[in-house]
Amino acid sequence: MSKHRKINTPKSLFKRVKIVWGFAIAILLVILTNVQVYAIFTNFNLTKVPQYQTDIKIGVGEWETLNRKNFFIDTISQAASLPPQKPHALPSTLMQWKDETNSGDYFTEIKPTKYGYLTWWQFPIKVYLETPTGNNNQQSQEWVNTVSQAVEEWNNYLPLTIVENPDAADITIVRKSPPLKFTNGSNIPRARSAETRYKIFTKDNILYHNFTILLSPSQTGKYLVAAARHELGHALGIWGHSKDKGDALYFSQVSNPPLISPRDVNTLKKIYQQPTSLGWKNDLEM
Ligand SMILES: [Zn+2]
Repeated sequence: MSKHRKINTPKSLFKRVKIVWGFAIAILLVILTNVQVYAIFTNFNLTKVPQYQTDIKIGVGEWETLNRKNFFIDTISQAASLPPQKPHALPSTLMQWKDETNSGDYFTEIKPTKYGYLTWWQFPIKVYLETPTGNNNQQSQEWVNTVSQAVEEWNNYLPLTIVENPDAADITIVRKSPPLKFTNGSNIPRARSAETRYKIFTKDNILYHNFTILLSPSQTGKYLVAAARHELGHALGIWGHSKDKGDALYFSQVSNPPLISPRDVNTLKKIYQQPTSLGWKNDLEM
């Protein structure tokens, strides 16, 4: 059973405290490395494995296998009522977007959460880059520059800004290895290159979310920018994967990582027309 913070009075989550950390952490685990490390346990073998182990992990400190029928388990009080889901206004950047190539989209691969779609409604979206410590300045600067490039790319479709204050961030990107992943029926941990997770919270009766992205220090150069691009796509609301290797949100890493594709943007635009509880007040509880 999931252990979560008990909320004293289940009567009204929204009244209860200024910020209720009803934790709802869904963790998207992404396998993006070219070389997966079948770690230590297998005689230090470096084994190349298929790259499409994509899992969504759920819960606070719990690691469960993806189950599509029960996609998101969260620990926000079950009794709490959520604001009714409504779409927000389409951001002008996406309103203006026209795909001349008619490339289609992969919207059907995107699953809504119990809060609806994970869309942002306040712009620019604030991104904080956690500058690595314990590295030399040049390394740190290179990392920041590379990740900033991915932020710039998405900024063409949704307004983003890099902030200096971590407390103000909507999306925090950290240079840190995601926890090892244990595959079903195996005690062999697998190294992963990136992970994106979100957290839901309330403030003044409004439902908010924020994201944390972990990017493995083992990623550099074009692989780092590709991983940042891919994970940022998730954090902007593309909570699922493409089956087309020409898309940034393709479920696997490829040797020549694609840029943000028209299909990525078409999908993003469709997502931003969907209903969500995020950003709305729980009127019933007022
Ligand atoms: Zn992914």
